[in-house]
Amino acid sequence: MVVLDGKALSTTIKNEIRIEVDQIIAKGDRPPHLAAVLVGNNPASEAYVGNKVRSCEQVGFSSTLIRRPETTTEEELLKIVSDLNEDADIDGFIVQLPLPSHINEEKVTLAINPHKDVDGFHPLNFGRMAQGLPAYLPATPQGVLLLLERNGIETSGQHVVIVGRSNIVGTPLGILMSRKDKMGNATVTITHSRTKDLAAETKRADILVAAIGIPNFITADMVKEGVVVIDVGINRIDDPTRKSGSRLVGDVDYDQVAPKSKAITPVPGGVGPMTVTALMLNTLKARKKEIRY
Ligand code: NAD
Repeated sequence: MVVLDGKALSTTIKNEIRIEVDQIIAKGDRPPHLAAVLVGNNPASEAYVGNKVRSCEQVGFSSTLIRRPETTTEEELLKIVSDLNEDADIDGFIVQLPLPSHINEEKVTLAINPHKDVDGFHPLNFGRMAQGLPAYLPATPQGVLLLLERNGIETSGQHVVIVGRSNIVGTPLGILMSRKDKMGNATVTITHSRTKDLAAETKRADILVAAIGIPNFITADMVKEGVVVIDVGINRIDDPTRKSGSRLVGDVDYDQVAPKSKAITPVPGGVGPMTVTALMLNTLKARKKEIRY
């Protein structure tokens, strides 16, 4: 069984990005610049944004963190988005989700200039991705593909079963893996909360992706021997043995499933770091204006 170490791979890829950034600077140009907008005090969002800012420092990007209180109005946030759209010094930006319930997330996502949409959440980028046209790919699916590719895991002809159909993970990953592309050509089944016999589907998977948001949901009896398991879930559970009183686990019961797997991602240290690294890659592409349309 191989542990797909996303932490180590993300360090490798960040070093590769750093080399490119050094070359940009050596030419007398400014480094890539990512901005992040954080509204409110959601602890998970704080941690994610903190990771993104730290990653920017590691790869030599400039970063700007715009923090606003929970009480920020939709109009105020749309003004921030519009200013970032116009700011020639910002190559790309993200508005960290979820937003407070009084703000319409769809409206905010639509307001982002698609050329600066390094999260790849704008429908224009999503539609272009679906048609196989150059686009900013959403970070988590891109991170998963990188993890498979760099570990030499073939997707062509494989049966991929994805549990979860969210717009940021399950659905775009299903599109990408079924495309006629290097890390595509898979036969994809997308399952969800209305799937009738989930275990029957997951047992057919050569590559199983769990993106559900329920701790330890995938158990050993739901997978076949020799499966490749990608656990996207990040769930905090109580653990009195830890100083903090809690720890992070995935959607897969790692201890049970790992012995049956050919390869598996740990949580933490699997898909999570790859997601942040994919965001760095998108920001570098934005700086280089690599994605043109
Ligand atoms: P979501 O809540 O938007 O979607 C969950 C999906 O799971 C839904 O499509 C739903 O149909 C499906 N589901 C729920 N219960 C089910 C059941 N009993 N059987 C089958 N399917 C079921 O989730 P999301 O935003 O895609 O996130 C999923 C998980 O991945 C969460 O734990 C989240 O924290 C994590 N996540 C991690 C990263 C990362 O970088 N590693 C990025 C995004 C999300």
